[in-house]
Amino acid sequence: MTLTEKILARAAGKPSVQSGDNIWVNADVLMTHDVCGPGTIGVFKREFGQTAKVWDKNKIVIIPDHYIFTADSKSNRNVDILRDFSREQGIEYFYDVIDDSNGHWVFDAAKGNMKRQYGSRYAGVCHTALPAKGHTRPGEILFGTDSHTCMAGAFNQFATGIGNTDAGFVMGTGKLLIKVPETMHFRLEGKLQPGVMAKDIILHCIGEIGFDGATYRAMQFDGEGASNLSIDDRMTIANMAIEAGGKNAMFEFDSRTAEYVDARVKLNGTKSTYTPVERDKNEKFVYELVVDLSKLEPTVACHPDPGQRKKAKDMGDTKLDRAYVGSCTGGKTSDFVEFAHILRGKKVVIDTFGVPATPDIVNDLQSTYWGNSTIWQILVDAGVQMTENAGCAACLGGPVDTFGRINKSGIKCISATNRNFPGRMGDKESQVFLASPMTVAASALTGKVTDPREYLGN
Ligand code: SF4
Repeated sequence: MTLTEKILARAAGKPSVQSGDNIWVNADVLMTHDVCGPGTIGVFKREFGQTAKVWDKNKIVIIPDHYIFTADSKSNRNVDILRDFSREQGIEYFYDVIDDSNGHWVFDAAKGNMKRQYGSRYAGVCHTALPAKGHTRPGEILFGTDSHTCMAGAFNQFATGIGNTDAGFVMGTGKLLIKVPETMHFRLEGKLQPGVMAKDIILHCIGEIGFDGATYRAMQFDGEGASNLSIDDRMTIANMAIEAGGKNAMFEFDSRTAEYVDARVKLNGTKSTYTPVERDKNEKFVYELVVDLSKLEPTVACHPDPGQRKKAKDMGDTKLDRAYVGSCTGGKTSDFVEFAHILRGKKVVIDTFGVPATPDIVNDLQSTYWGNSTIWQILVDAGVQMTENAGCAACLGGPVDTFGRINKSGIKCISATNRNFPGRMGDKESQVFLASPMTVAASALTGKVTDPREYLGN
C-alpha cells in the first residue's frame, strides 16, 4: 500500500485497502472556519437535532480566519455564531478573535487595517495555525471545510477538504465514507539552488500535470530531495496539491516531522501520541515523476490557472501593478525571511502588501533583528504595506474593504498565494501570477516579473 492507503486502511479498521474502495473512516480531527462553520453547524443541527451534541468536543477545531478584518456585519456575525456554538458544545479548541467569551466581534474600521485588532487566542490562517497549535499528527485523519486542508499532508497525515454537508455528518458521527484515491508519485532528488524555493517545486509539478492532473488522487512526495526540505517547505508543497485537483498530499515521516510535531503538542498540551506510516517496498502508483531540484528555476503560474507554468526569467515583459505576500502557502515566517532578503535596503516600485498568516508570525517578524532593524521594519522601510491583522485577507478576495483586495479591473498582481482563477483576489478582470516570495520581492522592485537570482548577493 501507499502511505495514503495505509492511513485510510487503519482508519477504516481494515488490514488493507486499494484505490477505488469505498470505506468508512474514523476522523481524528474536524476543522472548520468562519466561512463554512456556520453552514456546517446548520447541517449538523438540521440532521441531528437542535439539542444534539457533537461526536467529540475535543476533536473539533474551529479557527476563524477568512473574512475577519472587515466591517461587513454578516462576516462579523459569522464569528459570533462560531462562538455561541463552541460555548454550547464545550469546544475548547475555538480560536476566537476576541477574548470576551460573551462578547461580539466588531471590526473597527476607524482604526484602519494595519494595527492588530484581535485578542490573545486568535490563531490566524487555519492551515498554518493547525500544526502550530498542535492539531496535526502523523498517521491521523484530518477533515477540514477548506480545500487547502491538504497542507497537513506535510506531516504524514491524511488531510483533505470536505463540504459543509459532509462536515455536518462528521460533526455528528466522527465518520465519513471515502473512496480510496489512486496515488501519484513525485520523487524529489537533489537540492534547490539559491533563489529557488519550495513554491517553485510545486508550481513545476502542477505545470507538468495541469491544474486537473491529480483530480481525486493522492500526491506523494518523497526521496532524498523531500527529506532535505524544511517543514515549512513541505507545507508549501502539500498546500497546493489541490491546485492540481489532488485529494490529498503526503510526505514521509522523519526526524524533522517528529521534532516539529512533538514540540507543538507539548507547547499546546494537545494529544501527544501518534503512529506514523512508513513506505512499503511494493507501493502501486498511477503516475511517476522524478524531479531534480537542482535543475529547477524560479517559476510563475500565469493567469488564469495554477497550471500555466513559465520561467520567471522569460517573463520580463510582463508589467505588474501590485505584489502580495501572504496566505497559508506564502505567509509563513520563512516566506517573509526570503522576501526580506531580496528587499532589504531597497524600495518597491509598485503597491506591495504583506499579510503574515498568524499572529505568531507577526511576533516573529517584529522580534527578529537583522542589525538594528527588525525584519518587519526592513519590509516597511522597503515600502511594503505590512498589516498586523494576520489572516486570509485578499488571498480569496473577500469583502471590498479587505486589506490588499484588488478592487479595480485590469490590475496585474504577482502573489505568493496559491490560487489564481479569475476573480480570486477580487475584481474578475484582474490577473494573478503565482510565484515564490523571492520572485514576488524581485518583481516588486522592478514592476515586472523578475527572476530573483538577479538580486542574490546584492
Ligand atoms: S490563506 Fe487563502 S488559501 Fe489559505 S485558507 Fe485562507 S483563503 Fe484559503
